[in-house]
Amino acid sequence: MKRNCPECATELQPVRVIDATHDLPRKTGGAHVDLSYASLDAKPSFFMKAIPREGTLRAMLCPDCGRTLFYAQPAN
Ligand SMILES: [Zn+2]
Repeated sequence: MKRNCPECATELQPVRVIDATHDLPRKTGGAHVDLSYASLDAKPSFFMKAIPREGTLRAMLCPDCGRTLFYAQPAN
């Protein structure tokens, strides 16, 4: 689906967020990541410590003004 920037109306482009949790030299990211989201009251599971996610986030970048927006994609 095509979307336009709410600031300047330029067509948004899909981008991937690069994880910099584990920095490589010169602050470059080490891996692509698929961001996800959970409910505010979600708690890590007892054994695996995994937080149950409700879906993923898709990043869209405005190539003109740089505004970046996330769109939720529910898991089911
Ligand atoms: Zn823009």
